[in-house]
Order: sequence, then structure tokens, then C-alpha cells
Amino acid sequence: MNLILMGLPGAGKGTQAEKIVEKYNIPHISTGDMFRSAIKEGTPLGKEAKSYMDQGDLVPDEVTVGIVKERLSKPDCEKGFLLDGFPRTVAQAEALENLLSELNTKLDYVLHVQVPENKLVDRLTGRRICPECGATYHVEFNPPKEDGKCDVDGATLMQREDDQPETVKNRLKVNMEQTQPLLDYYGDKGYLVDVNGDQHIDDVFVQIDEKIGGLAK
Ligand SMILES: [Zn+2]
Repeated sequence: MNLILMGLPGAGKGTQAEKIVEKYNIPHISTGDMFRSAIKEGTPLGKEAKSYMDQGDLVPDEVTVGIVKERLSKPDCEKGFLLDGFPRTVAQAEALENLLSELNTKLDYVLHVQVPENKLVDRLTGRRICPECGATYHVEFNPPKEDGKCDVDGATLMQREDDQPETVKNRLKVNMEQTQPLLDYYGDKGYLVDVNGDQHIDDVFVQIDEKIGGLAK
């Protein structure tokens, strides 16, 4: 079961990733974790990646793809994997395709968790923080007992600059523009599976499970 998980910020990818790896017993491979462990293990590619990151530069594709290859070659990926955060571009997707064929395997599905933009904005702008103690709340998913007040110290909750509607909308727009070519690429190849992310967490997973479940049996 070789999967890629895609979705915009706020679509609930993290939660679904947890459920997928638990049910299908495959490792969740996020780009961030992969880089951190390659750097920690001090592999040649890890060192190379670090030298770019230390200078504030983007890690070039050949280094990133090399790190992905090292990770996917590990024994825990024999039953499959769930890739999250890679590929980000069509060039990386093509590199992944070559890499998987070198490893004598292939992609099964690209899961795309879809949530309407206005719902994402609601989710992403709902966060509130306490300026006194740093406690975080969400107006919908984790509200304080009293509206706008911290449960711990009663301070008036604030909204961070990053969580303001205009900032959030802009972040989503940039993200959508970057993602679209990749969705088109996987759509054309027949890998893309759209999942309705605008429902209860458990129902989202039921839908994922129904769509990919046949393979695991
Ligand atoms: Zn507080």
C-alpha cells in the first residue's frame, strides 16, 4: 500500500494520517521527519541537506529525492508507506515515479482530502491564544469555558497575526496554486482519489478506508 496524502492546511491531514498508518500498519513519512532523521544520522545526503538549510537555501531536488529514496528503502517500508509533504512539484513526482520503479514497486493512490476554502478559513482563523499563559483554544473545536477568556487566568484571548483571515486566505491561495499542477498530474495518471474532508473525522476515514481498502485484503 504505497500512498501519498495531499490536502491544504487545515484539511485534517495529520489526523487522517494517524488513522491510516494505524489501520494499514505502514509508516507515516513526512518530509520534516525524514530530513530531521537524515541529519541526525549524519548520512552523506543528510549532511548535504543541512549545509543548504544552514545557509537558508532550499534543498535541491536531487538531495531531497535521495533522502526519500534512503527512507523508502528501509525495511519498515516493505509493506508500504504514507508519504506526506512530498512530492511538492511535478518534477519531484516524476523523480518519485523513477525511484519507485528502481525499488520494484509503484504508487497505489494519491489521497486528496478536500475541504471548501471558506471552511478552511473558519478552521484556520478560529485559533485563540492567551497572552498571559500561552494556552491555546479554538472557537469551534476547543472553546474556552467563558467566551474570549482564558480558563486558567481569565485573561482576554488574542488572535495571532498568522491566523488573521487575510493572511490565512493568502496562504491558502498560494498553496492551491502550487498544488494544482501536481493534482492534475496525478489525476491524468489515474492515481488521484478525492476524499470529502468536510465531515466528521471518523467519516472522513471511513471514506478513505472504503476507497483504498480493497487493496489491503
Ligand atoms: Zn491564560
